[in-house]
Amino acid sequence: MISQLTAAVAALSLWSGASAATPSIPLLKSLVASPQDACKLAAGPQGRKEAGFDLGGNNVKSTGTLKGWMMFVDFPDAQTNGSDSQALFDTHAAAVSQFYQTSSYGKLSVELSADTQQVYRMPSISTSYGWADGLKPYYLEMYIQDALDAYMHAHNADGDASVLPEMDVLYLIPPPTADFFNSNTFMYEPEIRVPNAGGNGTVGNDTTATNGTAGTAVAHRAIAFGHDIFHEDGYKVLVHETGHTMGLPDYYLTDGSELPGALVGGFSLMAVTFEQAPDFFAYDKWRMGWMADSAVHCITEKGSTTHVLSPLEKKVEGSESTQAVVVATSGTTALVAEARTKNGVDDELCGAGVLLYTVDSNVPSGQGPVRIINGLDSDLRWCGGYPSNLAPLSFTKPRKSSLTVEKWGITVTLTEHDEVTDNWTIKVDYK
Ligand SMILES: [Zn+2]
Repeated sequence: MISQLTAAVAALSLWSGASAATPSIPLLKSLVASPQDACKLAAGPQGRKEAGFDLGGNNVKSTGTLKGWMMFVDFPDAQTNGSDSQALFDTHAAAVSQFYQTSSYGKLSVELSADTQQVYRMPSISTSYGWADGLKPYYLEMYIQDALDAYMHAHNADGDASVLPEMDVLYLIPPPTADFFNSNTFMYEPEIRVPNAGGNGTVGNDTTATNGTAGTAVAHRAIAFGHDIFHEDGYKVLVHETGHTMGLPDYYLTDGSELPGALVGGFSLMAVTFEQAPDFFAYDKWRMGWMADSAVHCITEKGSTTHVLSPLEKKVEGSESTQAVVVATSGTTALVAEARTKNGVDDELCGAGVLLYTVDSNVPSGQGPVRIINGLDSDLRWCGGYPSNLAPLSFTKPRKSSLTVEKWGITVTLTEHDEVTDNWTIKVDYK
């Protein structure tokens, strides 16, 4: 969905240039379809969509049913008898499905299936796919094609994509015995296609083997998992990668210059997968279609307003509840407030309170499109977590009940916490 505001602003610019008049704010407002549209940030330049409101494009749909298929592979030099496949599938599939069901308030069903009866042998040894260099697209493509070929071959159907299960996302699981140099997981973004040509199709130098206009589309995305998937809580790696398939960015600094939670603490598993408050940000839930416009208060004009925030992690009943306050400071930047509580997938959280963060759709994935306003000057590991599971706005020390974002002239003050409803009242002063 293209933001109505984007269309409105484009139309306004055209009109403005033709008449040399200064467009008035009332005219802009009259062109905006709903009061929340002004807070739906446009994508940044160069088609950077990571933090823009529109998640469409070739991304996997974030509402309805997402079908994922897990395929277990091994290698000539790292073989497995597959005895772990069923156990891994059982723990991960149920947990992933439950996570998305809870976080999306029932808007997204992730249905995972797997062939746990067979491990498919890759034609090349485990180290031949370039994991040591970060599994570059060429090797990733080869890895995916080899896996699909192995499946079709095992079903006596070389080159026949019709034997593959129906899926939106292909999840490739390596054996626990593979001695990878790099434990990271990688996503292949172009649509996965199997060539129509007879035989297995060629990988070699033919980069259209899995990506191109020819052939049969078998999945929107493929994920090649590393060893992180085998860790306790490895299912959250699957949740993270599935978030990418729907268009969400990385919220940790991908250049490795700082610890994974440096920018957003432990408050989104798009940054850290092993923390106490892994739920998706309200801004992400909103743009994924899980949160209605009516649950968002959008501020575009200066002044003082008061808002009652309901817990982000609970399904909101009725139209009176607010789960996010968004102050749009430009067409591509905003400050967001949401209440993070010990509920839903954040049930381990110890530092409940109100979270404030900036969103900037000009900043690409992995470079900080979302940053929490911290305000804490004491030990961030106060909760025993790493690096921070303390929502910065709270009545509990060492946190503060008021924080100011100087560059935008916005002060957010916590005025009340209702212990019964777990609702948090904030006052927003936008000068
Ligand atoms: Zn990621």
